[in-house]
Amino acid sequence: MSTIERLNELKKILNQAAYEYYVLDHPTLEDYEYDRYMEELIRIENEHPEWKTADSPTNKIGGEVLTKFEKVVHTTKMMSLSDAFSFDELKDFDARVKKEAPTATYCCELKIDGLSVALRYENGFLVLGATRGNGEIGENITNNVKTIKSVPLSINKTNSIEVRGEIFMPKKSFHALNEERALNEEELFANCRNAAAGSIRQLDSKIAAKRNLDAFLYYYLEEEIPTQIQALEAMKELGFKVNPLYRHCNTMEDVFAYINEMGEKRESLPYDIDGVVIKVNERNLHPIIGETVKYPKWAIAYKFPPEEVKTKLLDITYQVGRSGVITPVANFKPVFVQGSLVSKATLHNEDYILMKDIHINDTVLIRKAGDVIPEVVRPIKEERTSEIIPFKMIDLCPCCKTPLMRKPGEADYFCTNPDCSEKQVNRLIHFASKPAYNIDSLGDKLVLQLFEANYLKSIADIFTLKDHYEELIALPGLGVKSIDHLLEAIEGSKKNNLNQLLFGLGIKHCGAKISTLICKSFKNMDSIMHATFEEISRINDIGEAIAYELTEFMKQEENISLIEQLKTNGLNMEYQSLEVHENYFTNKKCVLTGTLDSMGRNEAKKLIEGFGGSLSDSVSSKTDILILGANPGSKYDKAKKLGIYIMEEKEFLEKINE
Ligand code: NAD
Repeated sequence: MSTIERLNELKKILNQAAYEYYVLDHPTLEDYEYDRYMEELIRIENEHPEWKTADSPTNKIGGEVLTKFEKVVHTTKMMSLSDAFSFDELKDFDARVKKEAPTATYCCELKIDGLSVALRYENGFLVLGATRGNGEIGENITNNVKTIKSVPLSINKTNSIEVRGEIFMPKKSFHALNEERALNEEELFANCRNAAAGSIRQLDSKIAAKRNLDAFLYYYLEEEIPTQIQALEAMKELGFKVNPLYRHCNTMEDVFAYINEMGEKRESLPYDIDGVVIKVNERNLHPIIGETVKYPKWAIAYKFPPEEVKTKLLDITYQVGRSGVITPVANFKPVFVQGSLVSKATLHNEDYILMKDIHINDTVLIRKAGDVIPEVVRPIKEERTSEIIPFKMIDLCPCCKTPLMRKPGEADYFCTNPDCSEKQVNRLIHFASKPAYNIDSLGDKLVLQLFEANYLKSIADIFTLKDHYEELIALPGLGVKSIDHLLEAIEGSKKNNLNQLLFGLGIKHCGAKISTLICKSFKNMDSIMHATFEEISRINDIGEAIAYELTEFMKQEENISLIEQLKTNGLNMEYQSLEVHENYFTNKKCVLTGTLDSMGRNEAKKLIEGFGGSLSDSVSSKTDILILGANPGSKYDKAKKLGIYIMEEKEFLEKINE
């Protein structure tokens, strides 16, 4: 391939990748691959400046602007940042800066892995929230931005201002969202950035509101403020959330120390960062140093290298999900990645494996997506030997050997045998699990043991286990105490609300939230069973795919008979509405330290619980808010260390009264 052909190929690859990343929020390339291609293109363009066209991806910021949101013209261009991957590149950056501005010092900040947003306030009120888009034109996402609790809807300043920053999804919300998506057998988000981008660009702001997004602001478009550090402080004063870990660095040694320190902290932070941003602190020097079409020359992003570990792919095995979905799993030689030993990672489906060109016995790179879930990044093709066994998707169910089916337009293969034992076990495990019917003490292992001993085959069998009391207490590892406990939990669960039962049945697409919506509309099981496709799809937020799966499920003889058996066994079949008044504290885990002037601890607890939040005694990484009273104790230090949001009494009262 000639150099110019390669240049055109790179432009095509990068444009397609940028479209998938920025517009579809569905990247198919790894970031490092994208960065490598970009570096190659920059190199060719530098060698042949005559080939550089205006539409080159090296000139473009972000992606196209989707038509589904109203367009917004930015007051000044929203730029990207140039990247550095080594300290040597940073030294070059420093030399370039010092050539134009010898007195420059730096403000170092964390590079939050989210997506940039511009916020405009007029007469003290938030009037616009916009994405970066292509840098000049963004998308109007004001309604969604307003659902972010830390973004003030009003500020104490009457002249028009604009601030910019990063919308992100905290790691905890990302994991909870992916757990829920896994339960609902929906596609998982690849990382926090992807999840944030997918959530903020929802047309329905109710969905965005439930995704627990957050925002750090880092740029104040106010010419009067002399330094970046002062700009951050001024934004804090106005009530914006500013990341507290910024630092003024006089020398490059200070910058390197900051980077090393943040690299160590990275894992313990409650949000994802992908590097450090180094900005010239003195804002009057910015115009002197200048900018390119794409990025300012007075700032640079140092990107942390991803921790990727080499290992050997020993085998690809297959799991059968509760609905029969077959998931290929990579089994590799155990390796330590970011502090824990891992040996397995999902390979999602056949297309994914073919796209990544993965084969058994390949040397592969493993890393943790979103810092937690192990992932196979790619095979190292240069290290491939004749030992590799080419990948071929199985065509029979690994459990019951039924031929697998792949529906047109879907990526997954299915086992269609309703009696497939792995499917049955997974269906039982799902039913008993905490987010579904929540039968305390009926964990995965016990389900499997009772299934293998032939006491549990279908969900209905759970409620007739008591008829086998004598046999059950004689099973290995079980006894009177554990069986009494189990039967008590089963008996108690019968009062569970109907949405838990509907979710527990494991109907395709009927996740926890959808099940609740359906129960709220139809009130009892009989109405749900007789609801028509049209009646179901008329419910807000419920699409035709759900309506189809639900009506199909309710038509099948074995499902009708299962529900009849559950009724006979006394399970609650009515929906009891549990309306809590939603406000800022809904679903928030709070901790109180010190004493409040306005109320005692019990009163605060009652108030928070009344809004569907909780107040516990100790601070952990799961805590959302530390409420700060007078004379705080060690909880305050711990919360600060963990980066937990600290709320003073005044704000607590304001939020309670909202
Ligand atoms: P970037 O993410 O490398 O850096 C610029 C952005 O950093 C800013 O726009 C801002 O949103 C953000 N930022 C976070 N904290 C900041 C702070 N404290 N101060 C200033 N800015 C801060 O640049 P980009 O243009 O958004 O994206 C380019 C990168 O995206 C590529 O290097 C690549 O890694 C990734 N990408 C990947 C694909 C893919 O297919 N995987 C495609 C396109 C882009």
